[in-house]
Amino acid sequence: MGGSQYEPQAREPASDQLAAVHAELSRFYGLRAGAAPAWQHRYYWERAIPQFDARIGPAHAAADTLQAQGLFATANWRAGVGVPDCVRHARQLAATLATGR
Ligand SMILES: Cc1cc2nc3c(=O)[nH]c(=O)nc-3n(C[C@H](O)[C@H](O)[C@H](O)COP(=O)(O)OP(=O)(O)OC[C@H]3O[C@@H](n4cnc5c(N)ncnc54)[C@H](O)[C@@H]3O)c2cc1C
Repeated sequence: MGGSQYEPQAREPASDQLAAVHAELSRFYGLRAGAAPAWQHRYYWERAIPQFDARIGPAHAAADTLQAQGLFATANWRAGVGVPDCVRHARQLAATLATGR
């Protein structure tokens, strides 16, 4: 909950957030009305995923230049922010290094 576009929601009381999440999951998964969650936990990330701005373009260009020179790096700003994206990109880089292409 929250994020740069929904900051007010991130600052709502934990009890409101937990109730909202439970209501949403109940709707999505067709949970029985009134069934209380067995466990819920809320952690507040003050500074979670940074938002990309105009500087990301030059950063990509610099990384491409370094890669052409043989310095390989991956991170969530290179090829997708999700863990699966990071793993996929790391595998691609490893394959590139292994095959030399
Ligand atoms: C709150 C939150 C929730 C998320 N939820 C999900 C989710 O549900 N599903 C999903 O797919 N993705 C999620 N993500 C995104 C995903 O976790 C990250 O995008 C991904 O882990 C980034 O991988 P990374 O390797 O680029 O960076 P990181 O995982 O941050 O790894 C960088 C590593 O480098 C180390 N490091 C930093 N500086 C130095 C240094 N100078 N010397 C040595 N080591 C250093 C750090 O300690 C860290 O271990 C979430 C991210 C956040 C913040």
